Amino acid sequence: PVRVRFAPSPTGPLHIGGVRTALFNYLFAKKNNGTFYLRIEDTDQTRFVEGAEEYIMEALEWLGIAPEETIGKNEKFGPYRQSERKELYKQYADQLIASGNAYYAFDTAEALDTIRKQYETEGKTFIYNHTIREKLDTSLVISKEDTAKRIANKEDYVIRFKTPIDETLHLKDIIRGDVKFETNLLDDKVLFKSDGMPTYHLANIVDDHLMETSHVIRGEEWLPSMPLHVMLYRAFDWEVPKFAHLPLILKPIGNGKLSKRDGDKMGFPVFPLEWKTTEGISSGYREKGFFPEAVVNFLALLGWNDGTEKELFSLEELAETFDLKRVHKAGAKFDPEKNKWFNHQYLIHKSDEELAKQFQLIVAKSTGKSEEIEINKLAKVVSLIKERAHFVNEFWDLSVFFFEAPNQYDEKAAKNWKEETPGLMLELIKILENITDFTSNTIETTIKDWMTENEIGMGKIMQPFRLSLVGALKGPHLFDIVEIIGKEESISRIQKAIK
Ligand code: GLU
Repeated sequence: PVRVRFAPSPTGPLHIGGVRTALFNYLFAKKNNGTFYLRIEDTDQTRFVEGAEEYIMEALEWLGIAPEETIGKNEKFGPYRQSERKELYKQYADQLIASGNAYYAFDTAEALDTIRKQYETEGKTFIYNHTIREKLDTSLVISKEDTAKRIANKEDYVIRFKTPIDETLHLKDIIRGDVKFETNLLDDKVLFKSDGMPTYHLANIVDDHLMETSHVIRGEEWLPSMPLHVMLYRAFDWEVPKFAHLPLILKPIGNGKLSKRDGDKMGFPVFPLEWKTTEGISSGYREKGFFPEAVVNFLALLGWNDGTEKELFSLEELAETFDLKRVHKAGAKFDPEKNKWFNHQYLIHKSDEELAKQFQLIVAKSTGKSEEIEINKLAKVVSLIKERAHFVNEFWDLSVFFFEAPNQYDEKAAKNWKEETPGLMLELIKILENITDFTSNTIETTIKDWMTENEIGMGKIMQPFRLSLVGALKGPHLFDIVEIIGKEESISRIQKAIK
């Protein structure tokens, strides 16, 4: 059965790239009737950040892609937090020592530094592998007894993987196809440290095995770790999961990986939710007013499409059509403008009533009127302006004149206010007073008939009329505005403008 995981390290807020990894895992599980679980990889205590774990859970929850198994939820393979599995890993490190696939090393940081520098002066890259393994302070050269003594003496040690020599690994990646690695170019990576903690590599492999992970779907930055991981599975004689490394998410402009700096510079978030620290606030998609469906949609298309031009996908549709084989190798450019377009698409397809409910809170706050603002009126307003908005939080600026009379008039537009205008406006007030069926259509035909009969040019009425109601020559269809704000208010605004 398909079992996939999202395995973030709680080192801060989840980056949008991490969210995409979670999403692709989620979709792959759904598509294949599998299970998506979340494991927290917190073995590196020095990088632990308070609140990051809760943040990750909340973000996935908000996007509707919460895991089926995780801390506190269907803990079939628990614990799902690696720091709580600490005791478990040592035996596996020991197992690799016993089978000759790993060894103790006692090199101090200074000793390693000296060799590294020496290599650099010779113009060579330092790789901790077989060519220097024998020269260093390892149990391959120290006797078993000495090794035991030094460990008993509490000398700092690490357990390193013993990378096989002179092998070419031919591996398969679902997205990249065949990938080749020369073992001689790989470091003997540290698997376990004397503080009793495994490194990412060991813990990750042990847990993926114990938690019966069938596919490892993760970011491209982990591709260089793939040979070590496969060699570890083989050393344990465990079944190797299938691998899929997702393409990078690239900066909107220029080359390279999308970073927080790009977001700061161009004013878009790189985090799903806002993240607050004592140093400041990093903005989030949720707080910017994005709908979770829109975020899911734009993330899904970062490196994937269904083979057609189709761009709008609900989570359910994605779960039906998602295919790892259709994920691209090349990096996917992040497009903040397009992301807003996605939000706009979801916005205009939502019902006016639903949007009105969200808008109600904003209106109450902006007008300072605590009494309930009629939801039907709000729905009408929303229907008139939503085409022009990307976010609900833009509604207020687009519609303020529905709720408040203008305090000032656009200067340029006010130039159309001629000597004859006040007189005409007074006549217009009379017309308005006499309309009993105060609906957009009736108002429009009544006023237009009156203008035709009296041979009054359109611009002479319409522009000052709009200016009186809105304060500028903008906004939706004038007679819709008149209907919504009502007879009394319309007349009072014209009177105010005449003065
Ligand atoms: N803990 C790793 C991370 O933070 C997981 C990588 C993997 O999926 O193997 O991304």
